[in-house]
Amino acid sequence: MKYGFLVLLALTLGMPTSVSSATTEGTTRKDRAETKSEAGQKAGKKVKDPVCGMEIDTKSAAGKATYKGKTYYFCSVSEKAEFEKNPAKYLK
Ligand SMILES: [Zn+2]
Repeated sequence: MKYGFLVLLALTLGMPTSVSSATTEGTTRKDRAETKSEAGQKAGKKVKDPVCGMEIDTKSAAGKATYKGKTYYFCSVSEKAEFEKNPAKYLK
């Protein structure tokens, strides 16, 4: 009986073999490294205003004063003046 063989052959050929249609999309995606260093370049150092306790940027500070070799930054000129009048009051 050759008929049985043909059927088997037809089934084998008709059988969908594992078609590799799936493209490798995952490998094409590139992870971009974010450049976070930009923010650090424009801004100054973060310091604490000794008068009001606010955290301010050294570059945006309204004034600064040096006391006992240390530099202090202030959010306003009036606070700078206040500090210079009595630095010990604001430094604990
Ligand atoms: Zn202040």
